[in-house]
Amino acid sequence: MAESKETIYLSFPPGVSNKPVVCNLARSFDLTFNILKARISPKQEGHMTIEISGSRENLRHGLQYLRKQGVQITPIAQKISRQEDSCIHCGLCTSLCPTQALRMDVQSRTVLFIREKCSACGLCTSLCPVRAMVLEVENGPWDAIVEGA
Ligand code: SF4
Ligand code: SF4
Repeated sequence: MAESKETIYLSFPPGVSNKPVVCNLARSFDLTFNILKARISPKQEGHMTIEISGSRENLRHGLQYLRKQGVQITPIAQKISRQEDSCIHCGLCTSLCPTQALRMDVQSRTVLFIREKCSACGLCTSLCPVRAMVLEVENGPWDAIVEGA
């Protein structure tokens, strides 16, 4: 059976973030996962970036299961970049960014974009008033898996 390995970003609605839905991927769907980043608070929205692997079929069922639990799934094959000339350092994005990849530098009063912290969730792209944050989507096998889910 063909094995697939993907990196995905998960957003858990309040009430779901403290349930063991990710652990169930291993228990019920024979998937292996590795948590790369996580920010989970009880009764609040949670965010997690995981590497997940298993058979393509199991991966599809596992993603279906997550969706049924209300978990939003974003392919990490997305990359975010900032158009430096466009950013007006208004700071709007800093309150939204779940990984603190965007944060205000108090001394220089400019917004820093720390690329290594970015989980490519895409939240900042719709919020930014000058469209300085740009989402680049890479096509890959993930698209086919999601469409089938
Ligand atoms: S919302 Fe846009 S313009 Fe404002 S600081 Fe963030 S990236 Fe810059
Ligand atoms: S896509 Fe934007 S909001 Fe999401 S983690 Fe990256 S910088 Fe933060």
